Amino acid sequence: MSAATRVLVVGAGPAGSAAALAARRAGAQVLLIDKAEFPRDKVCGDGVAPQALDVLSVLGVDVDALTGGSAPVRTLRLTAPGGAVARRATGRPGWVVPRAVLDARLRDAAIAAGAQPVHHRAREVTVTADGVDVDGLVGDVLVAADGAESVVRRAVAPPPRPGTVALAIRGYAPSGPWPDGEQLLSLTAQHWPAYAWAFPIGDGRANVGYGEVLTGTPPTREHLLTRLHELLPDAEPTQLRAHRLPLSTGRVRTPDGRVLLVGDAAGLINPVTGEGIFYAVLSGALAGAAAAGGVDPGRSYRRALRRALGVHLRHTDALARLSRWPWVVDAGITAARGSQRVFDDVVELGLGDGRLGVRTGLSVARAGLRG
Ligand SMILES: Cc1cc2nc3c(=O)[nH]c(=O)nc-3n(C[C@H](O)[C@H](O)[C@H](O)COP(=O)(O)OP(=O)(O)OC[C@H]3O[C@@H](n4cnc5c(N)ncnc54)[C@H](O)[C@@H]3O)c2cc1C
Repeated sequence: MSAATRVLVVGAGPAGSAAALAARRAGAQVLLIDKAEFPRDKVCGDGVAPQALDVLSVLGVDVDALTGGSAPVRTLRLTAPGGAVARRATGRPGWVVPRAVLDARLRDAAIAAGAQPVHHRAREVTVTADGVDVDGLVGDVLVAADGAESVVRRAVAPPPRPGTVALAIRGYAPSGPWPDGEQLLSLTAQHWPAYAWAFPIGDGRANVGYGEVLTGTPPTREHLLTRLHELLPDAEPTQLRAHRLPLSTGRVRTPDGRVLLVGDAAGLINPVTGEGIFYAVLSGALAGAAAAGGVDPGRSYRRALRRALGVHLRHTDALARLSRWPWVVDAGITAARGSQRVFDDVVELGLGDGRLGVRTGLSVARAGLRG
């Protein structure tokens, strides 16, 4: 395809803005379509892993400006379902940036790079041999970055399998009970797999929340709030909202052709930690480049994503299967308490593109046998 490839990006969250940036860098014309007026809130824990910033930096984003106003997070405290605690410094700092701020800044970066914003709710997607059409907006390639309830996903892929979607509620609370610069993740055996988090932003507030994997009838808002208060009794959050998380155990395989699914629309959320922003910007960046340049963009994007994340995703699939038994997670966190190397491996698996190494596997097995 020529440099004048027309790329429609539906959704201007992290995945869509990264796709727009990458497609612009490759010389494509880009329409960045979103139903929301920005800045807009997005239900999230607001935790931004350093790996996500690495991807954005390669796309030319000024990551200091992106995280400006929030303080670096250098410590992670993991509490196991059985009560073991691992509290250690992370190799590189993470950030907690409210999504109302992060997403608007990222979208601004995409617009500054030449993407044309369009305020529109996508409803109908038509794909022909010659191009794509979203309610009369036409292009050569469509990048579907429209999030967990993606209309594009519904048009091209089956719904997620049971057990591959989580539901979580989040709010903002005074950060008093949780020290700035430290993220807390508290796993619980009740309604397993489930956890609560407290992520101080560095401005006097913390993002707090609770989520669990859906296995049958979805839990009510009251249930989520009760569990949140049980696990974080000091939290008095406001701005409470719940949202679904399509986990990578139910990810969508992008077909050959002109429609490329990225981020939550592709079901790319870490099944153990709920991290999705790194996957969103990485898949968006790969899709944007493939959309702008390939003979078969769907195929080249799928291959690029497999090269970048294939092994990692297989390891997190295995981890998700193993962690059906809470004692496996107890063993992992106990091993991480005893070893910085195991801790770093666990963090890289949960927030980045890490793999379950043999030495870490053995340390966890030993901790499990001792437990
Ligand atoms: C409670 C909760 C806590 C989380 N915590 C974290 C965390 O701390 N760290 C982390 O990394 N990840 C976290 N995640 C996951 C993270 O929020 C997502 O993985 C991430 O937002 C995915 O980005 P995206 O760009 O794919 O989708 P989104 O951020 O959802 O963006 C989708 C965009 O598409 C637009 N859109 C939707 N439908 C249409 C339509 N029909 N037409 C036009 N536009 C449309 C929306 O307005 C939106 O702007 C959490 C998720 C939840 C629910």
